Amino acid sequence: PAFPGRCPETALHDVFGFAEFRPGQRDVIDSILAGRDTLAVMPTGAGKSLCFQLPAVMDGGLTVVVSPLIALMEDQVRSLRLQGVCAAAMHSGNAPGTNGDIWRQARSGELRLLYIAPERLALDGILDDLSDIGVTRLVVDEAHCISQWGHAFRPDYLTLARVRERLGVPTAAFTATADAATRRDIVDRLCGGDAREFVFGFDRPNLDLRIAEKRSPVKQLLAFLEDRKGESGIVYCLSRRAVEETAAALCRQGIPAVPYHAGLDPEVRSANQDRFVTEDGLVVCATIAFGMGIDKPDVRFVFHTDVPGSVEAYYQEIGRAGRDGLPATVQMLYGLADIAQRRRFVDESGASEDQRRIEHRRLNTLLGICETAGCRRQALLAALGEPLAQPCGNCDTCREPPETLDGLVPAQKVLSA
Ligand code: ADP
Ligand code: MG
Repeated sequence: PAFPGRCPETALHDVFGFAEFRPGQRDVIDSILAGRDTLAVMPTGAGKSLCFQLPAVMDGGLTVVVSPLIALMEDQVRSLRLQGVCAAAMHSGNAPGTNGDIWRQARSGELRLLYIAPERLALDGILDDLSDIGVTRLVVDEAHCISQWGHAFRPDYLTLARVRERLGVPTAAFTATADAATRRDIVDRLCGGDAREFVFGFDRPNLDLRIAEKRSPVKQLLAFLEDRKGESGIVYCLSRRAVEETAAALCRQGIPAVPYHAGLDPEVRSANQDRFVTEDGLVVCATIAFGMGIDKPDVRFVFHTDVPGSVEAYYQEIGRAGRDGLPATVQMLYGLADIAQRRRFVDESGASEDQRRIEHRRLNTLLGICETAGCRRQALLAALGEPLAQPCGNCDTCREPPETLDGLVPAQKVLSA
């Protein structure tokens, strides 16, 4: 059904069966319906799909949705069809003949949403056909994949800039995490340099944020664990060797711990992961290879023995703690040597000067969070594009404002408290 002239609330009830919009959805939908290029950054589970599905239903044209995974496309198509919306996915797993049916539906004007993988969309024939049919808008889900510096770069997303130009339609881009540099990249490549940007809901108030100077990581970790016996947690280390050594050191102290990194035998790796999810009170010492797709609500702490790769990576990694909403502690150790090493990585990466400049700026943002005399959460959320009005009261610097040379920053804190 198309709902020209009806209000989004009606479509929300009648088509999707929901009573009200979740925070942010209505604003994003209004921007998309107004034909604006739009970038929406909303956490996982916030309801990003509805933000483009509802305009597609209301407008009655054809919305092309780029999505990186066949399983994600199929899930959405299945539930849209259950709601009576004509939707289809075009991908390499389709049975012969399916694509022909999809094109017929598109030409007849029935099809509201066409899900498609980026590499398929880049094929000239497909773009010609879509131009002929006429497309209302382009939607790019998981849009951070277009940024080389994002945490999941996909080269095939780069062709989407050309797709947008070719179709000549507004773009709506969605992602769960994107710092300022990634958002810039997305807007430049997908939205012709200008878009309405919405950033919602990054705050995780139950996480106690702590950052300390790195002295002796293992000793600092053991001290941290002293009054956390029996809690489940993740310790992130930079190298496989550090992972092994840290896990062994914990075991020697009688703390149940297992290693996890990409160099382990796959069977050992998945056994360790299963133990972490099912057992209580196990510590997993891991490289960044650990965490994707792990659903354990009662992780009580995340400990970084080294500075993470970026603010986004830091946010993702600490976000694995306290998913149950109960208090959890995240502790990072940072050393200036870590930052210097990260800078060298960037300089030696062979990236263009522009990209190196952006990456250095991002490191500075991360360093700023480490060194701030103000509230850590304010610094973190500001970097993620979601300013927090008041100091949070649940981070180390709020609890114990650091001494500064001129005393100015703590004084401001007292005044604003
Ligand atoms: P995201 O892509 O942001 O991670 P999804 O689009 O997959 O999230 O939505 C997560 C869940 O929230 C889905 O089950 C969806 O049906 C549901 N949902 C979305 N919007 C609403 C709403 N306004 N009211 C109730 N449930 C909603
Ligand atoms: Mg999604």
